Amino acid sequence: MKFIADAMLGRLARWLRLLGHDTYFERDITDDAVLLIAKREGRTVLTRDTRLIQRRAARGQALLIISNDPVVQLKQVVEHFSIGALDMPRCSLCNGLLDRVPDKESLRDLVPEYVFLHHGKQDFFRCSGCGHLYWEGSHIEGIRSKTG
Ligand SMILES: [Zn+2]
Repeated sequence: MKFIADAMLGRLARWLRLLGHDTYFERDITDDAVLLIAKREGRTVLTRDTRLIQRRAARGQALLIISNDPVVQLKQVVEHFSIGALDMPRCSLCNGLLDRVPDKESLRDLVPEYVFLHHGKQDFFRCSGCGHLYWEGSHIEGIRSKTG
């Protein structure tokens, strides 16, 4: 399923992306824009805003996030929709799809030496949208452990 998070839920949006869930997020987005994009793209609204949740356009396709704590927020979403981590994470920065980097050697100068030495050929990913690099054991495992 696909989500759109309101302007107060940036951390939650980034974490959902790392779990592989397609999550739209924009800073300073208006309630109207959230509802419009949700409708147009078939996204479920995640919001801290009780006024937004009561609007007709949000009915049946929105979840009111109760807590201020991002860890609790993530637990609420994961449990409410019975979703876990997907096989492939998405970019936490831009929601882009990640591709496995086929040639680890090409990353030698791009990642910390420790990371390069202690990770295997299959452990590196690059965002197809913004080019950001990810590797197993950093962001990815950390966020998966929060939902367990
Ligand atoms: Zn990206």
